Amino acid sequence: MADAGVVLEAADVWEYLLSRGLVAPGSSGTVREVGDGNMNRVFVAVPDDGGTGLAVKQAPPWIRVLGPSAPMSPERAMVEARALATFARFAPEQTPVVVDVDPERFAFTMEDLSDLVVLRGALTRGARFGDTSTQVGDLIGRVTFATSVAGASAADRAALLAASVNPVLAEVTEQYLLSEPFLEHEHNSAHPSLTDDVAALRADRAVRTEVSALRAAFATRAEALVHGDLHSGSVMVGERDGVAVVRVIDPEFAVVGPIGLDLGLYLANALIAAARASALDDGELAAEHAGQARVLWTAFTAAWHAGWPDRVDGFLDEGWLRRHLASVWDDTLGFAAVELVRRVAGYSHAEDLETLPDPGPASAVVLRAARALLLDRGAFRGPGGEPDPAVVAA
Ligand code: ADP
Ligand code: MG
Ligand code: MG
Ligand code: MG
Repeated sequence: MADAGVVLEAADVWEYLLSRGLVAPGSSGTVREVGDGNMNRVFVAVPDDGGTGLAVKQAPPWIRVLGPSAPMSPERAMVEARALATFARFAPEQTPVVVDVDPERFAFTMEDLSDLVVLRGALTRGARFGDTSTQVGDLIGRVTFATSVAGASAADRAALLAASVNPVLAEVTEQYLLSEPFLEHEHNSAHPSLTDDVAALRADRAVRTEVSALRAAFATRAEALVHGDLHSGSVMVGERDGVAVVRVIDPEFAVVGPIGLDLGLYLANALIAAARASALDDGELAAEHAGQARVLWTAFTAAWHAGWPDRVDGFLDEGWLRRHLASVWDDTLGFAAVELVRRVAGYSHAEDLETLPDPGPASAVVLRAARALLLDRGAFRGPGGEPDPAVVAA
């Protein structure tokens, strides 16, 4: 058994679970490392007698894929555990159940989701979204309403803000999402056919102004608790007893920030899936994927409208609600745009595009969509100025 604070290996995990009282004394189990993320280690442990499994996630004091030469505070596991507790409170159906939090090892133990698959992989294999965007929009809506000025008292919001301080990962977001993709930087890469378009985007002052505004919004606009990394790699999907199951995992980037960040990251990855389907000549699937903008937005706003009659601050009026949701929509488009750029011209590309026979044309489509979302946000409003997610699909 490794000492407290030491990074767990698969061979340590069963003993670790025994030491935490999470499995039956004297029992044995089989452990495998399942983590495929960039940052952390995830192990799944299944008892040899066939009982229910458990998953252990640990943050090593470095970035997993880069190793000890890339130190990063393991506190991120505790940020994640706290965020999961808030998510479980307001959106229990879409949140993995956490059974143990271990601040000494920067680890926590949760329900085994191995019967589910990661949404991005499923989409790459040609799956449809099904119920997923409704459930994700519902989760974002419930959590953000409950932690916003409408859903939480000033004292509760101050406590949440203090408990959600996440400077290390906020800096990662500012760097990898909100600056580097828009600069010449050694981390970046893009398909060779995009070289001129990417250079033009980076040289465009209007683009720089919009991304500056998004950076400022991310840094200062403490609207509600957001997941912070809600792309299709942070959603697990499947079916249990014939019922669609959706779980949002991995909120280690959680901050009190602009609500449009989560909606935008998810939307961007739906649009990337659409670009993939389109490149594979499946226009119908592409349209369905792009239509997730409307599904997501409808579920998100439904959760806000459901919470609204019980808002904690009765002073807030419907006019403000309309204006606020319109502002969230503008942010959604903006954050979707930067995510699209990051995935074709930044550090972390999307497997959905990279596994195409030729990622070039689809990546060019994604880059053009990003520019439209960023610079022409007014086009995504209806005649009365209201958010119009149907335009995104068009
Ligand atoms: P990272 O922070 O490193 O990105 P994630 O939380 O995204 O870590 O988890 C990485 C991978 O581990 C997921 O893509 C998924 O395949 C697997 N995984 C995560 N949580 C569970 C779980 N509770 N049960 C089973 N597999 C999981
Ligand atoms: Mg992850
Ligand atoms: Mg799996
Ligand atoms: Mg993560």
